[in-house]
Amino acid sequence: MGRNREELAALLAGAGEKPFRAKQVWHWIYHHGETDFSRMTTLAKDARGKLDGLFRVARPDVVREQVSKDGSKKWLFRFEDGAETETVFLPEEDRGALCVSTQVGCALRCPFCRTGSQLLARDLTAAEIVGQVMAARDATGEWPRAKKDRLMTNIVVMGMGEPLFNYDETAKALLIIMDGEGTAISKRRITLSTSGVAPMIGRVGAELGVNLAISLHAPNDELRNKLVPINKKYPLAQLIKALRDYPGAHNARRITLEYIMLRGVNDGPGHARQLVRLVKGLPVKFNLLPFNEWPGAPFKCSTGQTMRRFAKFLNDAGYSAPIRAPRGRDIMAACGQLRSDSQRLRFSRQKARIAAGIEDDPHFHGLGKNQ
Ligand code: SAH
Ligand code: SF4
Repeated sequence: MGRNREELAALLAGAGEKPFRAKQVWHWIYHHGETDFSRMTTLAKDARGKLDGLFRVARPDVVREQVSKDGSKKWLFRFEDGAETETVFLPEEDRGALCVSTQVGCALRCPFCRTGSQLLARDLTAAEIVGQVMAARDATGEWPRAKKDRLMTNIVVMGMGEPLFNYDETAKALLIIMDGEGTAISKRRITLSTSGVAPMIGRVGAELGVNLAISLHAPNDELRNKLVPINKKYPLAQLIKALRDYPGAHNARRITLEYIMLRGVNDGPGHARQLVRLVKGLPVKFNLLPFNEWPGAPFKCSTGQTMRRFAKFLNDAGYSAPIRAPRGRDIMAACGQLRSDSQRLRFSRQKARIAAGIEDDPHFHGLGKNQ
């Protein structure tokens, strides 16, 4: 996993296999979810045996699975070097979204976000990002891909980390997930959320074409500098310009602006007015996120009445602005509640071992040589 088609073909060619073999193996791995070469029955018997001896289709380990009262599921996955990350599945009546992580922790430290209170341990590799999708599919038993009435229909890149600080691996993973002969989740069913890494937004549009969500959270630079510190580097004017230029954004496919509702901080009528002025002429819609509390959080959620008033102001100005019902709060799986504490310790121990030359490269390559 984590290798694109060309890389897989090169890997198999290196093992003396013909190019068509790569197509078959790809289909088995990503369409059927097969991890055992001996069960890839369209491959000649001797090829199965050989590949089994050379390679391995890996999954992250499931350290913990929790199920919320509302049906959401959260997994703590562990990768080969001991790094851990959380992934959440949010089923709805006729569809469901998997919320994947792109980093272990986050470097950005937005003060309302629990992930930001955990330091950045490392980026995830494409294999590890794809691995979350594959392992979640294993757990929901939704193989093969063609199975009817699947529940895992959408992907949201809204878990731990800032995806545009790990762009190359995230982009590679999303292209693998979108591949029509594999898991085939279309770009229209994938949403990537960024805190506002303005210079990278153009590439997301041009190279991936997925839906874009921005964690806006404040209508002016002064407040946004405090709530979303990356704003000091890429202020609102720069961010708004990147949104104006976003390829593929139009009225039918609007950019989502996420706005967290913090009591007495960003939820007043003046903020709503400024917000409308800020986004004038942009093809956007809002998602109002009730603040999800976590132990030690320095904010409170706005009252229901305040949120409804805020939403109404945006609606009256012509914008859709649903107040999102929080999911999975009872298992700390809601937006901004993800964290993988245990990982940090283990990771720094690992790092020490690598520095001491006891272990080699920590990066995990799903389909790699057996040592
Ligand atoms: N780092 C990216 C991707 C994470 S998306 C980003 O910030 O966009 C997670 C979403 O949940 C973001 O919009 C984030 O701002 C929001 N969020 C963070 N903490 C939250 C909390 N405590 N309650 C509600 N939403 C939160
Ligand atoms: Fe990082 Fe996003 Fe959390 Fe900010 S909101 S700390 S960018 S994960």
